[in-house]
Amino acid sequence: MAGASAATADVRSEKVAQAAFRIRHHALNMGEAQGQGYVGQALGAADMLAAVYADQLRYRADDPHWAGRDRFLLSTGHYAIGLYAALAEAGIIDVDELDTYGSDDSRLPMSGMASYTPGMEISGGSLGHGLTVAVGMALGLRHQGSDARVINFLSDGELDEGSTWEAAMGAAHHGLGNLIAMVDINALQADGPTAGVLRTEPIADKWSACGWQVARVDGNDVDALLGAFDAVSTGAPSVILCDTKVGRGVPLLENREKAHFMRIDADEWQICRDQLTEGVHA
Ligand SMILES: [Mg+2]
Repeated sequence: MAGASAATADVRSEKVAQAAFRIRHHALNMGEAQGQGYVGQALGAADMLAAVYADQLRYRADDPHWAGRDRFLLSTGHYAIGLYAALAEAGIIDVDELDTYGSDDSRLPMSGMASYTPGMEISGGSLGHGLTVAVGMALGLRHQGSDARVINFLSDGELDEGSTWEAAMGAAHHGLGNLIAMVDINALQADGPTAGVLRTEPIADKWSACGWQVARVDGNDVDALLGAFDAVSTGAPSVILCDTKVGRGVPLLENREKAHFMRIDADEWQICRDQLTEGVHA
């Protein structure tokens, strides 16, 4: 039996890893088509998004507004390039449409907009709002007797926001076991390195003090991410703190000076794809 369950775990892990590869590949293609984009964040968060869409989320690809769906809320609107790639991976939007990313009249604007994109639950971008909305949604679903879950993706920059902590305390107060937060701790935010803008460590202790179940994992380790999801129980809200690397999977970008908006020259996109395919990390 142990051998069989290990094989099952390998299949599950490989499925998520393959999804993460395709999400990264899509993100590079989208960035090249537009000549720009928040590619560094998408590469860093690809494993988190793959774990959600290839393993965790309950949804119907042909009915993105199905009432019984789990809700995935992207607080960080500029990560939309990564979410669009995940939505294509999930079959909710067509892969061909990804090439319109950031273009006039596209359903895939550079910052996520709920009214434009199937499967985009909220218009994120003003940091610190996602978890507040997630708490309201989780409360509402519970009132409706739904067993759907709410998964909120937020960034380490959002831990600077007071509204995030108000929401965290509210979620624990209401015992929202149907709520999972994932924090992309990439040590970077728009104004520079997170540690230099506002010190937020010890992050795990802060969530724990607010009454949350806490796991901290390497957010670029698929098995660690799946293990954290498996450990979630429904007695209280859960947070999975994910340490990630900007540009993950593409050494050219992993080694570049970290910037919120990463510039990639026209002749570098193919190099990025080649490095991704080679599967070598810096
Ligand atoms: Mg960040």
